[in-house]
Amino acid sequence: MHKLAKYVLGAAAAAIVGLAAFGASAADKGYVGVSMPTKSSARWIDDGNNMIKQLEAKGYKAELQYADDDIPNQLAQIENMVTKGVNVLVIASIDGTTLTDVLHKAHEKGVKIIAYDRLIRNSPDVDYYATFDNYQVGVIQGGYIETALGLKDGKGPFNIELFGGSPDDNNAYFFYNGAMSVLKPYIDSKKLVVQSGQMGMDKVSTLRWDGAVAQARMDNLLSAFYTQKRVDAVLSPYDGLSIGILSSLKGVGYGTKDLPLPVVTGQDAEVQSIKSILAGEQRSTVFKDTRELAKVTVSMVDAVLGGSQPPINDTKTYDNGKKIVPSYLLKPVSVDASNWKQILVDSGYYKESQVK
Ligand code: BGC
Repeated sequence: MHKLAKYVLGAAAAAIVGLAAFGASAADKGYVGVSMPTKSSARWIDDGNNMIKQLEAKGYKAELQYADDDIPNQLAQIENMVTKGVNVLVIASIDGTTLTDVLHKAHEKGVKIIAYDRLIRNSPDVDYYATFDNYQVGVIQGGYIETALGLKDGKGPFNIELFGGSPDDNNAYFFYNGAMSVLKPYIDSKKLVVQSGQMGMDKVSTLRWDGAVAQARMDNLLSAFYTQKRVDAVLSPYDGLSIGILSSLKGVGYGTKDLPLPVVTGQDAEVQSIKSILAGEQRSTVFKDTRELAKVTVSMVDAVLGGSQPPINDTKTYDNGKKIVPSYLLKPVSVDASNWKQILVDSGYYKESQVK
């Protein structure tokens, strides 16, 4: 054969082998469907982006869907990903109790299922759960109020109101119970007084974590119970609720020298809340590094597809009604005006210019 022809043929063959190898590795590595609840809160956008970035970096084919906090939408998106042939589903559920049937069908087809951040309930088909120590999130929130008010030093009595997360999100109960493990003894000893008397998740929850719902409830609490008294602390489990609660408080005159804002907690270290903390309004939040959550989840994907053991550090806490789901819990971190820079900027999570 002519030398040049040989070279061209050789190069073409190498290219074909190369392409085949590339094609084979992407297909063989696996196809992962990621289902996220909503884009209305920045944390889920970060979660989705981190997941896709890390999955693709490892050579997986990945697909990301957001369900606009609409349950039928999330079901349809998951069904669609199963039809398209995903090998693994990573799901942050809207309502953790609604996925039983779709997951059953997926599991029958051999799809592995990882619950992401929120536990999927009433399903025997959930393989693993990657999350943060949700009870500890609540302990941090309750503990922040305890320290800020000086309750440990015997100060009080103070007035407090309590807010819970969405009643269809398993996490909301862990946050509330964790916070109450710190606050309840002070309520019992009357160093903390809930003027409204509204306690317990059946009374204080906030459907779909909606800030407008929290704001409306705070408006009602203020007009019914606080025209003669001031509220000193508000337990808020999520930054989006805290912003609504703070608007309500400012609307009736809190935030001045004579009527300072109460201690308001939060969660997720969202940009708006960090700005609020820097402005002296919201007092604290809880940072959960979504880059780390994505990393743990991707190691779970590696393990279920590679037939090895995934990282697990909890096999007792998360009973979903059908099984105890083996879990990996990451550590949440308390953030306030004293450490935001170190935790959020030095770690590269935010640029300082984003929050200032
Ligand atoms: C998450 C929180 C978040 C909340 C509202 C919970 O399931 O764990 O980080 O604040 O949902 O999106």
